[in-house]
Amino acid sequence: MKEGKVYLVGAGPGDVGLFTLKGKHLLVQADVVVYDALVSPEILALIPDSARRIDVGKRAGSHPVPQGEINRILLQEAMAGKLVVRLKGGDPFLFGRGGEELELLSEYNIPFEIVPGVTSAISVPAYAGIPVSHRSLSSSVHIVAGHTKHVPEAQIDYEALVRLGGTLIFLMGVGALEEICKGLLRAGMPAETPAAIIERGTTAAQRTVVSTVKALPEHAREAGIGTPAVIAVGRVCALAEEFSWMEKRPLGGRTVLVTRPRNRAGRFSQLLRDYGAQVIELPCIETMPLEPNPELDEAFSRLREYSWLVFTSPAGVRLFFDALRGRGKDVRALGGIKLAAIGSATAAELEMRGLIPDLVPEIYSGEALGKALVREVRPDERVLLARAKEGSAGLPKTLKAAAVAYDDLAVYETRYTWPNADVAARMLDAGEVDYVAFTSASTVRGFVNTLGRQDNLKFTAVCIGKATEAAAKESGMRTAIAKEATIESMVERMIELGKGEL
Ligand code: SAH
Repeated sequence: MKEGKVYLVGAGPGDVGLFTLKGKHLLVQADVVVYDALVSPEILALIPDSARRIDVGKRAGSHPVPQGEINRILLQEAMAGKLVVRLKGGDPFLFGRGGEELELLSEYNIPFEIVPGVTSAISVPAYAGIPVSHRSLSSSVHIVAGHTKHVPEAQIDYEALVRLGGTLIFLMGVGALEEICKGLLRAGMPAETPAAIIERGTTAAQRTVVSTVKALPEHAREAGIGTPAVIAVGRVCALAEEFSWMEKRPLGGRTVLVTRPRNRAGRFSQLLRDYGAQVIELPCIETMPLEPNPELDEAFSRLREYSWLVFTSPAGVRLFFDALRGRGKDVRALGGIKLAAIGSATAAELEMRGLIPDLVPEIYSGEALGKALVREVRPDERVLLARAKEGSAGLPKTLKAAAVAYDDLAVYETRYTWPNADVAARMLDAGEVDYVAFTSASTVRGFVNTLGRQDNLKFTAVCIGKATEAAAKESGMRTAIAKEATIESMVERMIELGKGEL
């Protein structure tokens, strides 16, 4: 039997870019993932569909799974031969009870490894522009548990902390903020010492309150700061204003839901993250080849009769050539056929195969492609459309109206999928999503199919083109449309929208 193993992995503070390469490498091959409430949805989105997810974190209204139970789950799964990833917020050994989780494993000789994570204690202040140490302001950093069940707040030695004179970082301290500040003042800390509290640091929802050790509790209360938050006390906090950078990025503080099929989401998400957005991937459609496919066999046997081969999506190109290959053929089977592509991404997919399309319409839409074909196709020529089973009606309608001879060949079908739907639904409900990006009408349908028709939509649907926008409008969404049919242009549109809202 395969030997099981447990990896105790730090997930970092929230920003998926701060998750380690090693952590990601393990997560994508996990059989079982056991995770806490603090692990960000972007990281949970990396869990493969095939893995079992076990949420042992706190949920509103219910209690977290007791520690003993978590230890038993890890043991059981590892003994069943599974690759178990135990994912914890920040670093697993800093106030993460990581040590306790190893005791039982070690007792039973279950192999394990530790993958440290970026701790919130240092990274969250950094995202608020606070360097925890500074040559002329602070030469030591002390990380303190503001509250735990086992170490009551009363046990914090405030005199010692004040005497050290460095930067003080309190985790789990929101509930005890007033006690902490009072304790420090009582121990002789100057009332005007700079102090800050940072809520949900490194995420799009990050909020920072900078004040003094005397006034911080009141200012935090006014701002309604809640958990999780990091409290920083010390002279370095005075730098927060000058060094703040998170909110200054073009999409800083924005959350975007990307609905593309998973295998195509990567570049889009990265671009959004580069501009400072928090990105949630909801791959609500997936493209599946139609096999067996007698119509396709038939079309392949008569390829010479066609003068034009038309693609309306990158998936169509990919799956068409896969099908060709699967029948022992290669591009030479196409002979001198002319190629049309609906837009730049589809064209790029052809170019990757050494094929330069003869026709790409200026506007990205089925109708525009149809019109361009009507102009180009000679009366004696026949057109083969290689596209999705549920492809939109605009293209064939335009061809038909102009009496162009064509065959509409279904190469693949679009299926709706729903990994991460629970995470996305929760964020949409809470009004935490600013923009939902739609790159085709089928992603709109997939979205509605996955999440149900939603009322009181609080986000703007940013659409790649007109047909997509029409589908989004039909579903009752507030929409915006990209100037050009590219993901870059969609990102620009989001930046513009953000400026308009300020
Ligand atoms: N192991 C974790 C800390 C666990 S204790 C780490 O290394 O970061 C939980 C506390 O961490 C929270 O109460 C809060 O103080 C802090 N914390 C974790 N993530 C945070 C975030 N994104 N923003 C602010 N505080 C955070």
